[in-house]
Amino acid sequence: TTIGRSLAQTAARVPDNDALIDCASGRQWTYRELRAEVLAVAAGLLRRGLRPGDRVGLWSPNRWEWVVTQYAAAEIGAILVNLNPSYRQRELEFALDHGRVSMVLASPEFRDSDYPSMLAAARPNCSTLRDVVVFGDEEWAELTGDPTDDDLAAVAQVAAGLSPDDPINIQYTSGTTGFPKGATLSHRNICNNGYFVGVLCSYTDADRICIPVPFYHCFGMVMGNLAATCHGATIVIPAPAFDPVATLRAVAEHRCTSLYGVPTMFIAELALLSDTEPAELDHASSDEFDLSSLRTGIMAGSPCPAEVMRQVVDRMHMTEVSICYGMTETSPVSTQTRVDDTLERRVGTVGRVGPHLEIKVVDGDDATVERGVTGELCTRGYSVMTGYWDEPEKTAEVLGDDGWMHTGDLATMDADGYVQITGRIKDMVIRGGENIYPREIEEFLYTHPDILDAQVIGVPDEKYGEELMAWVRLREGVVDFDPESVRAFAAGVIAKHKIPRYVHVTDEFPMTVTGKVRKVQMRADATEILG
Ligand code: ATP
Ligand code: MG
Repeated sequence: TTIGRSLAQTAARVPDNDALIDCASGRQWTYRELRAEVLAVAAGLLRRGLRPGDRVGLWSPNRWEWVVTQYAAAEIGAILVNLNPSYRQRELEFALDHGRVSMVLASPEFRDSDYPSMLAAARPNCSTLRDVVVFGDEEWAELTGDPTDDDLAAVAQVAAGLSPDDPINIQYTSGTTGFPKGATLSHRNICNNGYFVGVLCSYTDADRICIPVPFYHCFGMVMGNLAATCHGATIVIPAPAFDPVATLRAVAEHRCTSLYGVPTMFIAELALLSDTEPAELDHASSDEFDLSSLRTGIMAGSPCPAEVMRQVVDRMHMTEVSICYGMTETSPVSTQTRVDDTLERRVGTVGRVGPHLEIKVVDGDDATVERGVTGELCTRGYSVMTGYWDEPEKTAEVLGDDGWMHTGDLATMDADGYVQITGRIKDMVIRGGENIYPREIEEFLYTHPDILDAQVIGVPDEKYGEELMAWVRLREGVVDFDPESVRAFAAGVIAKHKIPRYVHVTDEFPMTVTGKVRKVQMRADATEILG
């Protein structure tokens, strides 16, 4: 199916269900209303000259206009180019130019950025860009105005000509390991992925999904929005950008049944629930947030520490929480835990392969390894991107003619098909010829009473090639922390060569907007820290 047809079906099935709730603006839409709003904007986009296959940029934090634009562009087959809200001038111009974007819809501002003026400055450098519409201005009002019958007939005619295999989206990867790459995805890729993610979360039209993860990324747009609209569930937008207080408030106020996040987001939310130091918080105590409506949710994007997972289940009521693993290039989800999986499985693995997908773990020669042996995870099926936009060489590096996508992630698969991600090939540390997976050390560091969050990298070392360096964030109230104590804490518990040689205390890790720790940046910073 296409994204437009899928939304139309849901709107016909549950017209009066809440489709979208935007907490910041206080507005909400039923499925009937959302579909009408989407058709109006689709008609408006056609009137402004946008055609199937044209690239339309969407540059905004999470607002209701994001969702409407996502579906309006899909309705007429325009390829949505997701622009990261944190882009600065140079990155914006790269993406606009790279995608040969003809039109951009943008939020008026975000944080300290003035989007209209940045777009105006970009224009001379982006030859294809001919139209900019800013949410809330007159042109946006014109776009969202009531369509005529002729307008709607024009939309229907264009929509009828779309194929599920048409490209519909260019999504840039998080840029965790380097420069973001633009994955080109079709209706078939992402609509199915949203659908199956929802199936494995047991979504029905009674579910209400709180989505604090960015829409510009597949976690928000596919696993959130598309999963919701495929199943008639409600999209709840707590705030334009991640805010733990607004998130928990939205869950409580709108009785959400599902909550999404990367592990760092859940860590921030759990800290608000902490009843150990309520006096130190400038907002009311944990009683303020009634989370009893929560049933499930998704934690994905980066490895989830076991302790965090346990607390999410115990203290946030998310007994059916799902762990997903995937990447932008695969729409994104490849493996997911099932509702009836044991907590151990949800703590220790990223679940099993999703419906209608294949996975395998291979060695350096591309031969499948034995179960339980570490290798590179590969995936194949409906979810694999058509390629990186305009970069056939980069596509060929990861995607073979046989359809297998090389993920760059290290994994093991057990006898029952459950997958464990052991890290990224690029983050693996080789110390004195021995492969060390930072993930394992990070898990260990979380058990230290003073440590709130930990990340481990390899730093160059003359003797061993690489040495381990841990960056730790301390729990609130910890004073007199002695980095050396970590080594003592580890002695005798983990193998000697896995004990971090250096321990660095920090307030925060360098992050991508999708909430992932940028170890490339940490490695660069480490050179300076270590002198
Ligand atoms: P880039 O490709 O630009 O360096 P990125 O790989 O972080 O950035 P994404 O496509 O957003 O960009 O993220 C996919 C990656 O996230 C996966 O390849 C994997 O390394 C990591 N990941 C996703 N889900 C999980 C998970 N549940 N557990 C561990 N790692 C995960
Ligand atoms: Mg990647």
